[in-house]
Amino acid sequence: MPAVGNPNRSPIFRLVTIASSALGSFVLGLWWMQTGFGNGIAGLPAPVTGAIIAGLCALAAGGAAMSFFAGVDESVDYVVKETHYDKLTGLLSRQAMIARIAQAVESTVRSGEPVFLLDLDIGRFKQINEAIGFSKGDELVRAFAQRLKASLPANVVIGRIGAGEFAVLYPDSYFNMSMDVIAERLIAELMEPYDLGTHQQSVHVSIGIVAIPKDGDDAILLLRRSNLALQNARAAGIGNWAVFHSEIGRVADYRRWIEAELHTAFERGDFDLHYQPQIDLMKGRTVGYEALIRWKHPERGMIPPMEFIPVAEETGMIGPIGEWVLRKACRDARLLPADCFVAVNISAVQFTTKDFVGLIDDVIRETGIDPKRLELELTETAMMQDRNRAAAILKQLTEMGVTVAVDDFGTGYSNLSYLVDFTFHKLKIDRSFIERLETDQNSGAVVSTIVGLSRALGVHAIAEGVETENQATLLRAAGCEVFQGFLFGRPAPLVVEGGELHALHPAAARSALH
Ligand code: C2E
Ligand code: MG
Ligand code: MG
Repeated sequence: MPAVGNPNRSPIFRLVTIASSALGSFVLGLWWMQTGFGNGIAGLPAPVTGAIIAGLCALAAGGAAMSFFAGVDESVDYVVKETHYDKLTGLLSRQAMIARIAQAVESTVRSGEPVFLLDLDIGRFKQINEAIGFSKGDELVRAFAQRLKASLPANVVIGRIGAGEFAVLYPDSYFNMSMDVIAERLIAELMEPYDLGTHQQSVHVSIGIVAIPKDGDDAILLLRRSNLALQNARAAGIGNWAVFHSEIGRVADYRRWIEAELHTAFERGDFDLHYQPQIDLMKGRTVGYEALIRWKHPERGMIPPMEFIPVAEETGMIGPIGEWVLRKACRDARLLPADCFVAVNISAVQFTTKDFVGLIDDVIRETGIDPKRLELELTETAMMQDRNRAAAILKQLTEMGVTVAVDDFGTGYSNLSYLVDFTFHKLKIDRSFIERLETDQNSGAVVSTIVGLSRALGVHAIAEGVETENQATLLRAAGCEVFQGFLFGRPAPLVVEGGELHALHPAAARSALH
């Protein structure tokens, strides 16, 4: 729907029109009478002249009144369009959406058929808007809205309820597949990059879901709850969705606390890096260390990365934090054995920043690390957001001599075609497969398939999260020879005493090597 223009005739304008028409007719009548038509017009007697004048006045007033009422209609239409529709996208406005949610509550109570309310948002929209400029930001919102509309069945009610936030009313009867499939498809489609003419813009999308009437019967409350679910989805990482549950308020409070605390924590120097060894059984030694960030809060103690990294990604704090991790890990590499590399986790948000390769290049030069000793761990999600750009970056990194590992492999995309387009050197088999190795035969099949795939692609495979001897044996049977996990060594701080490296080679790792 196009944006609505202001009506050219407002009610005040119309009132003035009536008054001036009536006054004009009256003055004209007086003038006629005074200039010799007093005895009548064209020989007509005075009462007839008076009647004509009165008729003219009535006609003018009638015409003006007509235009006034037409104007009122036009103004009502204008007000409806102004308040009911979002100018930028033509979708329903927040106010109109609230009314529609209230209607949906009424209809579900009557029909007993549930309706789902989805709260979707473009992650870090404020930062994107500031980075690309408001007019490109508007373009992005429009393109996003169009794609959202195209991805949903016709007649589904959609509104724009915040700058980069949208609400959808999805009746249960429209479902031809389960909610998880719908949410995941929607996220995948909406996270494909947007062509803004000047560049391809990647976005992160999260969805919060409430069921009407199960989760509430008040429109405002339902919106608040869907937003809490949305925050929960965001906290779980990029491209997630979550449904509302009663505990969710507490999660949201905690998240807000993290958000408020992150900056201070960074300035205060709460962060540290721990290192976890990676063991190559064929070589019989530790070949590298993964740097894992640790946040020790002075009052709350250790806060796991899975809880604060997604918040840092969303607030933009991942920029300075990620850069700090990269610098420190590259500096620390000097303290690690010379034949070991250091692996650094790179968040999807970091990877998609403008000059990511430039940053890596700067850090390599500043710290003097041999690029061959630097490994970057990227997830499939990070690489899939803008495939062309990702392919170019991976190629540049490889040319610089930096190694790339695909972290948490097997949990992201089922479409493996990207493996052909991208240059990388290692697949890190996700811990979830290793965890189930002893109880689930399929996990064994998945692991040996990934090992076979890595061989076919000419890259390495490493199993992460190896905790038991039994898992290590099964992994070796599946052809995997490089391991990382508690069995071989927990992440530990880098302690150098008298030139000796401590806490990196626990007894378990040594015994496992033999
Ligand atoms: P990840 O990169 O997959 O790291 C492996 C995680 O598994 C680490 O958790 C590690 O402590 C844990 N782990 C290793 N071996 C075992 C095992 O045998 N059993 C079990 N149960 N867990 C094991 P951590 O340190 O809590 O990190 C979690 C995630 O947070 C990391 O997953 C990574 O995605 C992210 N992360 C950690 N440090 C950084 C960082 O510096 N930057 C970024 N962007 N992300 C980070
Ligand atoms: Mg990792
Ligand atoms: Mg991993």
